[in-house]
Amino acid sequence: MIRQYLSRFMTGRYGMDQLNLFLMVTYLVLYLVFFLTGLWVLDMIVLVLLLVVLFRMLSRDIYRRQAENTRFLQIVRPIQHKFRTFRTRMKDREHRYFKCPSCGQQMRVPRGKGRITVHCRSCGATFEEKS
Ligand SMILES: [Zn+2]
Repeated sequence: MIRQYLSRFMTGRYGMDQLNLFLMVTYLVLYLVFFLTGLWVLDMIVLVLLLVVLFRMLSRDIYRRQAENTRFLQIVRPIQHKFRTFRTRMKDREHRYFKCPSCGQQMRVPRGKGRITVHCRSCGATFEEKS
């Protein structure tokens, strides 16, 4: 009964996406901080966040909401990518990572081989690097 009503209610409405998920996680984190610190500003921010999430979920302007989500993903993906490469590098103890001094291309060499001559595959520059 409630489920049917809910599914009819949500028909034609936008629902969830990555941006809303992000806002909800932010909401939970800020709510926790508010709970621990009692900062009243957070209480207001949290309320606004919740309203934005509800507004977006129940919105019938699906095209606009999708555009917002796309913009959000465009901002977030490079950050996600940087974070991932950073993590891989932290785990990878076998290689040393650096940028080509002439073109900025990312490169890696095996660690612990002393001073080695590196040849950039991207621009063809040759230079010395500590490994
Ligand atoms: Zn290069």
